[in-house]
Amino acid sequence: MPYKSRWTIDIPNAHLASILLDSPTAPLSKTNRCFLEAARPETHYFTPHDFRLWSQRFAAGLRKSGLQPGDRVLLFSGNDLFYPVVFMGIIMAGGIFTGANPTYVARELAFQLQDSGATYLICAGSSLDTGLDAAKQAGLDRDRIFVFDNTIYDGPGIGQKGCRHWGELIAPIEEGTGFAWDDLSTPEQADTTLVLNYSSGTTGRPKGVEITHKNYVANMLQYNYMASLNPDYAEKLLRARWLCFLPLYHAMAQNIFIAAALTRRTPVYIMPKFDFVKVLEYTQTFRITDFIFVPPVMVMLAKHPAVKQFDLSSVESVGSGAAPLGREVCAEVEKLWPEGKINVKQGWGMTEATCSMLGWDPREKSDSASVGEPNANCEAKIVAEDGLTEILERNQRGELWVRGHNVMKGYWRNPEATKETKTEDGWLRTGDIAYVDDQGKFHVVDRLKELIKVKGNQVAPAELEALLLEHPAIADVAVVGVVINEEERPRAYVVLAPGQSLTAEQVVQFMDGKVAAVKRITGGVMFLEAIPKNPSGKILRKVLREQAQAELKQG
Ligand code: AMP
Repeated sequence: MPYKSRWTIDIPNAHLASILLDSPTAPLSKTNRCFLEAARPETHYFTPHDFRLWSQRFAAGLRKSGLQPGDRVLLFSGNDLFYPVVFMGIIMAGGIFTGANPTYVARELAFQLQDSGATYLICAGSSLDTGLDAAKQAGLDRDRIFVFDNTIYDGPGIGQKGCRHWGELIAPIEEGTGFAWDDLSTPEQADTTLVLNYSSGTTGRPKGVEITHKNYVANMLQYNYMASLNPDYAEKLLRARWLCFLPLYHAMAQNIFIAAALTRRTPVYIMPKFDFVKVLEYTQTFRITDFIFVPPVMVMLAKHPAVKQFDLSSVESVGSGAAPLGREVCAEVEKLWPEGKINVKQGWGMTEATCSMLGWDPREKSDSASVGEPNANCEAKIVAEDGLTEILERNQRGELWVRGHNVMKGYWRNPEATKETKTEDGWLRTGDIAYVDDQGKFHVVDRLKELIKVKGNQVAPAELEALLLEHPAIADVAVVGVVINEEERPRAYVVLAPGQSLTAEQVVQFMDGKVAAVKRITGGVMFLEAIPKNPSGKILRKVLREQAQAELKQG
């Protein structure tokens, strides 16, 4: 029998905007702040009322410009005060939001433009050259590119290089006449896709993960419900303040810092990019209450000398997700506060599950690297590698399968990949290896899937392998993840073509300019006579991963 959540909550069929912002015209606070620019929070912020109005203006402008229901709009930008406005505006207009990693090179962006079929590219001014190059590769006209920045907070923005400024898509809606988003109160309507978040899933290249209103609403309510089990929750909501440096194009930041934060009315200080010392400084200045981190940042928190120079006494909870984290680091982090104040908790999530799936009841203490138990209304089970037999014994490893309203509709225009990943009765095969301990808590211990996670970012080996194979001297190649200094990195195993020679440096350099920095081959290059494969030609990645760890041990 699968492990069923201990909790059941009501998950309505509704438009995400109705859950986050009540109705198009209901009174919302004009004084509280929901999003603030961390560098200038006194002057650059949104109240819930203003946030809804800006989103409605953008939605109305998109519609006026010809956006049809289901059209894709791609945002290519780092975090910005207006990022949530673009996200919400597209969704209010009935479009589908898709965000790209702001460090992408043109080839990567062109892939997402083409794959999603986006007809609008909202592109950060600082990345316009990449945007233009990608649009050219994808066949998107220049008049579909809109320059994105937050200058419209202070006045009209200015276009660049023949592209219009996105401010031209902001329609002048008067207060009280709010742009009305659609009613999605039937199950069929709530099954409408609102977001394509890209993920490689268990195999292959990045794919658009179709997340529906139902998925999003479910996951946000589930995430908030878990937090609400804290007996102090109502009071905590009044003093909560969050800091967002995690990238908003990714499911984790998007769900937590836009959706969950808005429903809780928790102010979010937005940082354009990660800077650890600034994280500490802002925590002290803004009295941040919760750290929502990823493992590399947790490691910094445990080890960085600057940590001791700042007052972190406002912090009430510390959580980590997106990649594995050892209990030792958690214990180091806990020592930063008086004994018993902070208990680091890990959660497990996946883009294909909207965001979060397993988490901790805040009333319980975690003293292991466990990721907790299923969210409200969710189920999880451990399945043997044959994909058929459920493992019922505790502490036995197998593949983690999960099911719930938050599991994606499927992969965008990719029924084959959907079929491989999601069963007909709704189970998501996660590609992670896990077990359930004697207390009924889940532990994620390894990966069956190809995915490599570098600083919390997805790196798909298949993508790197395809690129490396373009080199005339490379006959075959496999890329696997290796852990060096507590960080996962891509390592390439290369088979040279007959009569060819190549150095490790040349292999690394070949990827320069072809991929974002996180995808570079920073875990080393090794040369082999042949890539180990099974009889049907599948790379035996486990063999290579074990080989890599042995090689690294030898130095
Ligand atoms: P993403 O879709 O980018 O969120 O990546 C999802 C994958 O990240 C999961 O399938 C896991 O492999 C990994 N992951 C997420 N959270 C954890 C965690 N707490 N511990 C171990 N791996 C995790």
